[in-house]
Amino acid sequence: MVHSFKYNHKGRDYHFLFDVETASLHNIDKDAYLVAKDKFGELSESEMIELDGMDKSLVAEISAELDQLEDEGSVNTANYSCTGDKQIGEIKALCLHICHDCNLRCKYCFADEGTYHSKLREYMSFEVGQKAIDFIVANSGKRHSLEVDFFGGEPLMNLDVVKQIVEYAKAQAVIHNKQFNFTMTTNCVLLTDENINWLNEEMFNVVLSIDGRECVHDKLRRTINGKGSQSLVLANAKKFRDVRGDKSYYVRGTFTSNNLDFASDVLYLRDQGFDQISVEPVVLPEDSPMALRAEHLPQIMLEYERLASEYLDSRSSGKWFNFFHFMMDLDGGPCIKKRITGCGAGCEYLSITPYGDIYPCHQFSEEEGYKLGSVMSGEFCLDISKKFAKNTVFNKPDCMACPAKYYCSGGCCANNTHFMGDMSKPYSMSCEMMRKRFELSLAIAGIERSLV
Ligand code: SF4
Ligand code: SF4
Ligand code: SF4
Repeated sequence: MVHSFKYNHKGRDYHFLFDVETASLHNIDKDAYLVAKDKFGELSESEMIELDGMDKSLVAEISAELDQLEDEGSVNTANYSCTGDKQIGEIKALCLHICHDCNLRCKYCFADEGTYHSKLREYMSFEVGQKAIDFIVANSGKRHSLEVDFFGGEPLMNLDVVKQIVEYAKAQAVIHNKQFNFTMTTNCVLLTDENINWLNEEMFNVVLSIDGRECVHDKLRRTINGKGSQSLVLANAKKFRDVRGDKSYYVRGTFTSNNLDFASDVLYLRDQGFDQISVEPVVLPEDSPMALRAEHLPQIMLEYERLASEYLDSRSSGKWFNFFHFMMDLDGGPCIKKRITGCGAGCEYLSITPYGDIYPCHQFSEEEGYKLGSVMSGEFCLDISKKFAKNTVFNKPDCMACPAKYYCSGGCCANNTHFMGDMSKPYSMSCEMMRKRFELSLAIAGIERSLV
């Protein structure tokens, strides 16, 4: 499959041809772009007029060159296909819901302010944590490297138990020849010096939640008393960053219909001295006032373009930073298995509630029909995993014709399920944004490569 596209940076049009199957990106000129778009069935009406105005012998020459590249295998018009399902039965990662409680009251919280729609604010006990570690060790097969993500609510509200679980997991790793990488996602409210030092020592990666500018963050991320949390969160996140040095962490924000100018929040976080940044679109039902809806898409697309332009300028002028949705590794990146299977939810990745119940991921937590078992009772049924295992890009007709398929991997099963009623049906809002970010990531990689 071949995809041609253009990107305008600082008034100059850049044209690209991307071979989806081999992940080869070619910088091409405008004439080659028009002929390629025509040849591979992507020509728009306005481009058809431009193509008609081209010299016919030049069109024939470029077309012959494209034929030759195809014959040589440098450009693949066929789609790679594979009928294999995802592997099940070997678990690689667990998301531990260490605490269904939170010290913030974010208005867009998917976890219903940490409670996951339960009336009770539950905390995982050390006993449940131990059983969860035993469960992953027993069900990880030959995998040596395992991951445990401490998630909430707010996991620092149950830090004593987190510490016990980490010590227990490290001891089990020695006994069973495994290695654990721990991560935590925190809202930063309880990042005291002592907690920062412990996290820095024990966590492989830490995700610090902050939405960006004070006016944006404070509108939705408030304390229990209704006060804005940005100044406290920002100060604590900076303290963590200063201790963390080169070890893995990133700041993660959410944008909503309140801040469709979200590029300003990304740049704000950069200006606060963070160089690993992710700001992601909120996912909420359409009737929520903060939801992103189809009518917002044109503005969101322009905002991603603005961000891409600022990103290129910033990185080339000494203010280097990584925006996660623009990261593109043209020389390596994930293996083909990872590219077609995505996040692994329900198969190699599972979540555990505070009571020890097993779900495909945090977004399915407590959802009827998605419980796989319990680490407490030992019950573990793979029937639900089998459904998730079939959920590769090759089993989704919409995805097979999508140039972003090996980077998106067919979208988020939870969003597809919750918004489309079927995990194999891509959620169209997410697709539009995904494809835009995908093209911009390629364009950024192509332009930066041409500058080296
Ligand atoms: S910090 Fe996280 S868990 Fe807590 S209310 Fe906000 S989004 Fe929900
Ligand atoms: S962007 Fe949409 S259509 Fe494309 S691979 Fe992802 S889910 Fe499938
Ligand atoms: S299904 Fe969606 S929410 Fe769940 S782990 Fe995968 S990407 Fe994340």
